[in-house]
Amino acid sequence: MNGLKKLDSLFEAISVVAEGAYVYLCDMKTNMSRWSKTAVDLFGLPDIYMLDAGAIWAEHIHPDDRENYAQSIDDVFSGKASGHDMQYRASTLDGSYTLCTCRGVVIRDDEGNPEYFGGVIRNHGDFSYIDPVTGLRSLYGYLDDIKGLYNRRVPSFIIMLGLSSFSDINDVYGYNFGNLVLQLLTRRIKQKFANKGAVYRMNGTRFAIITHDLSAKEAAGLYESLRDEVRRDFYVEGEKITLCMNGGAICADRFDISSETFYSCLRYAYAASKRHKFGEFVVFEDVVSMDNRQIIEQLNVIRSCITEECRGFYLCYQPIVDFSTEKLKGMEALIRWKNEDYGIVPPNTFIPFLEQDSLFPELGKWILRRSMEDGKKFLEFSPTLTINVNLSYTQLEQDGFIKDLFEIIRETGFPKSHLCLEITERCRLLDIEMLKDMFSIIRDNGIKIAVDDFGTGFSSLGFLRSIPVDIVKIDREFVKDIQKNDADKHSVKFISELADAFSADVCAEGIETNEVRNCLKEYKICSLQGYYYSKPITADEIMAYFLEKNKGSD
Ligand code: C2E
Ligand code: MG
Ligand code: MG
Repeated sequence: MNGLKKLDSLFEAISVVAEGAYVYLCDMKTNMSRWSKTAVDLFGLPDIYMLDAGAIWAEHIHPDDRENYAQSIDDVFSGKASGHDMQYRASTLDGSYTLCTCRGVVIRDDEGNPEYFGGVIRNHGDFSYIDPVTGLRSLYGYLDDIKGLYNRRVPSFIIMLGLSSFSDINDVYGYNFGNLVLQLLTRRIKQKFANKGAVYRMNGTRFAIITHDLSAKEAAGLYESLRDEVRRDFYVEGEKITLCMNGGAICADRFDISSETFYSCLRYAYAASKRHKFGEFVVFEDVVSMDNRQIIEQLNVIRSCITEECRGFYLCYQPIVDFSTEKLKGMEALIRWKNEDYGIVPPNTFIPFLEQDSLFPELGKWILRRSMEDGKKFLEFSPTLTINVNLSYTQLEQDGFIKDLFEIIRETGFPKSHLCLEITERCRLLDIEMLKDMFSIIRDNGIKIAVDDFGTGFSSLGFLRSIPVDIVKIDREFVKDIQKNDADKHSVKFISELADAFSADVCAEGIETNEVRNCLKEYKICSLQGYYYSKPITADEIMAYFLEKNKGSD
């Protein structure tokens, strides 16, 4: 077999197992290489066959990475190294750099001399635009297409639909069956929205449809009929499967608002359909109580502020006092955003929208860091205080949450046992085993966990049964009129006894008057929080009004 032919057949063998990475193979005796056509096209290399490809490739490597690369190649060719495993940035045809991981091995001849050097290069900037399961364009395809429409100023109506409880199908029938369900569902979606728009497979079980031909009413009609069909009439391999579908939509018709902001609003509409409307079609404009133009504009500015190191955000702190002594016990960090055009913006008008946003973890980390930095100063004056920080359930969903949390604790030097994380019952929507693992790591480290707004969710009892917590915070709704409302009295009695049965302390929120405070005396409540003691105030005000005067009193 002549040299080039052998090089080719070896090359074909490696390409089969390379799974999407670029393959290279070099005959070290002649220094002739063969490279994948995709790499040649992307990086603008001269040909799939190259003499001295190492030197040609070196020209594409970022100057800062080039020396390392050259050293590694020298070691391979001089026989010193039997392989090569490195990362570097390489320039593509359009001049931009992309991060690559390159792994190769040396194959030796019978005498032990290097004969071939072959391996693969993985391009970390190369996201797949096609979803392998459904064959639809992927999330990356969607993001690209929507940017393209934006650039051409084409208004779109965007629909997101997806399934609830799909993990049950995977658990019961297995992943292959689950994939089959998604494939059949894809077909149904395409049939239903035939020629009306482009369909995409987003993360998980979610799909998007970009359409220019449908009104909100027509889209709702098609969606509802699809939802009905997949609930009643969906068979996979002879098995009847009941699919629960959710759907949200937004009209993206303004080009002064980024496509990412619209994407956040779309996800908000989808989440509203899933959580509050049992899958009914939700159009963003219809569920926002505030003027939706204003909310979208405001969100657009807030998003850009997050990317600018959380510009305009600051924390207020609201004191929490011990019920019996009325001494300051801790405080809750509450976020605010301030801007010239919008003034001081309270969290309820942006947190629920941002929870669906990929930028939210960034803000969440900022909140944790800032509250621990401030908290450290507070502790110098009052060393027994606890700082409560609110977490959104979507933060817990992030892969790196625990790692980030402990990194921030380490970097700020905040004592862990003085931290309390407030979560809401909504986090029950997450995988319960994952939550248990996460909370046991948190609590084993001495950090406390409080359930916020207790009683407003749909599963209060179940929550306490499955997840151990240290504190239960009774929502203001049950407390504010307690002196005149018997139902509230029963609720507070029930909640405080329930918490006690699960060994959790109780904090009552929203105490505005002395009467309300007195009314709570007969229940098992440890701490109080409310305007009666103080509204949320800035860190400087906390220092001035609550801490400096208390210095040494602990
Ligand atoms: P929350 O965690 O239940 O916080 C208590 C809210 O009740 C605060 O509103 C506080 O100002 C208000 N409040 C406290 N005492 C009284 C009272 O006596 N009367 C009345 N009328 N209100 C009282 P705020 O600061 O507007 O926060 C609203 C919600 O936004 C918070 O409810 C929390 O769910 C969310 N939030 C605030 N900061 C953050 C944050 O840093 N991260 C996350 N994920 N959510 C946050
Ligand atoms: Mg809270
Ligand atoms: Mg609360």
